[in-house]
Amino acid sequence: MGRSRQSWQLAVFMGAILLPSAALVIVSQRTMQQNRELALKHRLDEQRAAKERVAHEMLAHLEGLRGAVVQNPDAPAVPEIALVARIEGGRLLLPGDSETTERAFREATNHPPEFREAIQRGERAEFERGGAAAAVEQYTEALRLAVSPLQSAYARYQLVGALAKDGRAAAAVVQARQLLEAPMELVDPDGVPLAVRAAGLNELLANAQDRARVRQVLASALDHGPWYSSLAVYAPRVADQLNQIAPAENTAWDARIRQRLETINRRQEQAQALQNDPGLQAARPAAWALRSGAEPWLISTHAPGGRPQLLIAVRAADVFRRFEAAAQAHFFPSTEPGGELLADTFPGVKVLFSSLPADPSSNTAFTERIYYLAVLLLVGATAFGTSMLWRSLRREVELAEMRSQFVASVSHELKTPLTAIRMFAETLQMGRSQDRAVQNEYLDTITNECDRLARLVDNVLLFSKLEQGRMVYRFRPIEIADILHTTLRTLAYPLAKHSFTLHTEIDDQLPSVNADADALEQAVLNLVTNAMKYSGGQKEIGLRLYRQNGDAAIQVTDHGVGIAPGDLPRIFDKYYRAPTPENRNIPGTGLGLTLVAEIARAHGGRVDVKSSPGEGSTFTLRLPFRSET
Ligand code: ADP
Repeated sequence: MGRSRQSWQLAVFMGAILLPSAALVIVSQRTMQQNRELALKHRLDEQRAAKERVAHEMLAHLEGLRGAVVQNPDAPAVPEIALVARIEGGRLLLPGDSETTERAFREATNHPPEFREAIQRGERAEFERGGAAAAVEQYTEALRLAVSPLQSAYARYQLVGALAKDGRAAAAVVQARQLLEAPMELVDPDGVPLAVRAAGLNELLANAQDRARVRQVLASALDHGPWYSSLAVYAPRVADQLNQIAPAENTAWDARIRQRLETINRRQEQAQALQNDPGLQAARPAAWALRSGAEPWLISTHAPGGRPQLLIAVRAADVFRRFEAAAQAHFFPSTEPGGELLADTFPGVKVLFSSLPADPSSNTAFTERIYYLAVLLLVGATAFGTSMLWRSLRREVELAEMRSQFVASVSHELKTPLTAIRMFAETLQMGRSQDRAVQNEYLDTITNECDRLARLVDNVLLFSKLEQGRMVYRFRPIEIADILHTTLRTLAYPLAKHSFTLHTEIDDQLPSVNADADALEQAVLNLVTNAMKYSGGQKEIGLRLYRQNGDAAIQVTDHGVGIAPGDLPRIFDKYYRAPTPENRNIPGTGLGLTLVAEIARAHGGRVDVKSSPGEGSTFTLRLPFRSET
């Protein structure tokens, strides 16, 4: 097979593996890519759906709150609602910090005028030197003239102050106790409940029972009263007073009050921030925007007719907590990293779902690795299989080539002796030579050529039997020496004709072996014939028969061309002929040694060769002796 053709075939072969493999890798990569994209899309879809769901529910809840507020803006009953405030001219009016409370108070205390005048007289007297007694009188009169609970409470409040100033502590305490029970809605112009005002009387706080009541009143005022009133400023003052008079009397209450005040302060801070917020006007009515700060709020406006009139603020923490557990989500301001914007209706709110894997690729990465491994294994296995296939294919091709070579060789080998036989036979037929000796020589040659032909045919027949598994050996006890002598007789003529000298050394005393005489003779013939064919002009051939360990050894030695080390392992292969230039001119079929090895094996023996190029070869055929039975 030509080198270039071989490498071209190899290239085609490699292409046959590599191209599909490459295609496989590309296809799998694309599939992976698509999988990844699909997983991502799926995740996004899921997230979007989850987001829409939770945003929808949250909005429904907040709109419910808005409905309640719009119906009754003055008394938002839900703790989640942090602030409801009017918006006027784009400005947020915080209840209690405007003139609203004061105006309301004035309106409620102006009528009847007698009441108002009595109060005014009292106030004037109170600020004169030593006017406290007169003030007490005026306030008592006002109390009598009062036409509403607010007026009564206010007159009493003034009265308590005047009595205390006048040094009538006991009377002041009596009045303060009564005032303490006034409803929380009754507030002074600053928005502080008058009941809480009564709590600030030092004389009242001297009594433990009264202190307990004051604590109750203060706590309920802070819990239910409007946090944005001055109450938040006034209440801590009363708490401090209580602490000074009776330190550590009720620390749990004190802690609760302080905590409540902290919340109120936070809210106030948040409300003030909102008041200065220029974005307030832009707040969309249908949306709930998150305002971070001291206390994060979700704010929305109520804007009938398009103009915002009312601001509704809901404690974001409360709303978020309500939905976080069910939705397995976490809500936080959009200023923080991570997560995704929740919805258009919730500006500034981000959401992060804990139920969804943070990174979808982590899951697919594992699958991908498995996939690539499988592809790699597949490609590897294919490459391995193909290389095996390639090798066996090449062997087949080689064998086929050798077989065709063999046919050519056999034909050639058949033709040469036939030509000789024909030539000599014709010569004899025509009676050209009358010389008896010459005639005999011609006849010897014909016989010899016939023997050669027979040997060749024998070899081919033997081989064909072996190939087809039809070979039958007829084993019987024989003396190897006898076989060798027969072989030598057969070869005597060709050896002599080509002037070979045969050195024999035959041990006639060896025990017999169990052998097929014909097969064994054929094997020895092949070895000696080879020694002649590959003699390279060195006409000395050795033939020995000797005992070696438990075997009979037949050794054929020549001093001819020898065999290259690279060829040694292959010379026993069928059809194999060493591809040397000398060999090309030597007729042969490549079957001789194959048969020798096969015959040795069938006899339980083996054949060895020692050879070096240019120095000759030694073949040793070993056969075990017959076991004595
Ligand atoms: P062939 O018909 O070619 O002689 P064989 O099977 O008898 O076939 O031998 C195989 C090959 O081994 C030969 O082609 C030759 O190259 C090599 N060979 C065999 N015997 C000898 C030898 N005595 N000296 C050198 N080469 C040998």
